[in-house]
Amino acid sequence: MPKMISMCYGGNPAKLNTSWSNDNPGRRFFWCEKFGSGFRKPCQFFTWFDPPLTPRS
Ligand SMILES: [Zn+2]
Repeated sequence: MPKMISMCYGGNPAKLNTSWSNDNPGRRFFWCEKFGSGFRKPCQFFTWFDPPLTPRS
């Protein structure tokens, strides 16, 4: 299980962002700044970032 992903497949720094969709409100995810179709070599890097749950926090 990966610890902390901060680099995409292409070696670019992945950005940590927060989702505000209805399905995943407040859930965080990493994504490449070149994600999408507007680039010559678009990157498909996208992964949810789920910190370990701490029930006794
Ligand atoms: Zn990338």
